[in-house]
Amino acid sequence: MNHTKIEALFVDRDGTLIEDKHYLSDPQGVQLLEHVGESLQKIQAQGIKIFIVTNQSGIGRGYFAESDFFACQKELERQLSAFDVHITDTAFCPHDPNPPLNPKDGCTCRKPQIGMWEKIAKEHHLDASKCAMIGDKKEDVGFGVNAGFALSCLVATGNGLNHAEKLGITFKNEASIFSASLLSDIEINIDKTSISEHGTSDIQCTRKINGVNDKTGTKTQCMSAQTFADFAKHLLEKQS
Ligand SMILES: [Zn+2]
Repeated sequence: MNHTKIEALFVDRDGTLIEDKHYLSDPQGVQLLEHVGESLQKIQAQGIKIFIVTNQSGIGRGYFAESDFFACQKELERQLSAFDVHITDTAFCPHDPNPPLNPKDGCTCRKPQIGMWEKIAKEHHLDASKCAMIGDKKEDVGFGVNAGFALSCLVATGNGLNHAEKLGITFKNEASIFSASLLSDIEINIDKTSISEHGTSDIQCTRKINGVNDKTGTKTQCMSAQTFADFAKHLLEKQS
């Protein structure tokens, strides 16, 4: 089977790239997680661009300012530069998901919605079928699924174990497949016969939105990985 060549990797920040400090606003609290720098270096060496997409509702909730977010971003990029890793672009959602004044004025950028994907895709001319996503929450995987990415991964760092439990999946295998339909309103019919025991084969599926076929034959893969390094290994194996 032909593997999709991934051209861009979307990465969640808190709990995936760095320690989740819960509404981080101080650059001194920016702490890269184990394996992340080396893994991104290897991924970038394959010509894959790296983008950060992060929900930062602490801004909308009034816990910290946008300038605090940018200060943390600068520190994160400084630490990644020690691995020669360059972040091509970053998008963040500053909105409070439960605004007290206008609860119906929801934003369209908070993951698992795909506003941040649409913004970055337009600016960088990206094709969703050549993109991958990694994050520690089901909303991160849902983001990748909703955007139509080739691969979306839940990692066991940060909130990953809690979210895996919610989804009824385990991290027993180095990489295991789970159903994308658990993650979003989009119904995804997966051909189960194509899933190997360790779940590393491609999945051919039919994406349905509100009961109507959207993109028949969309190739979507949801996987879990213990560490960023496990994910990078899987991603790079698929590149060759
Ligand atoms: Zn938003």
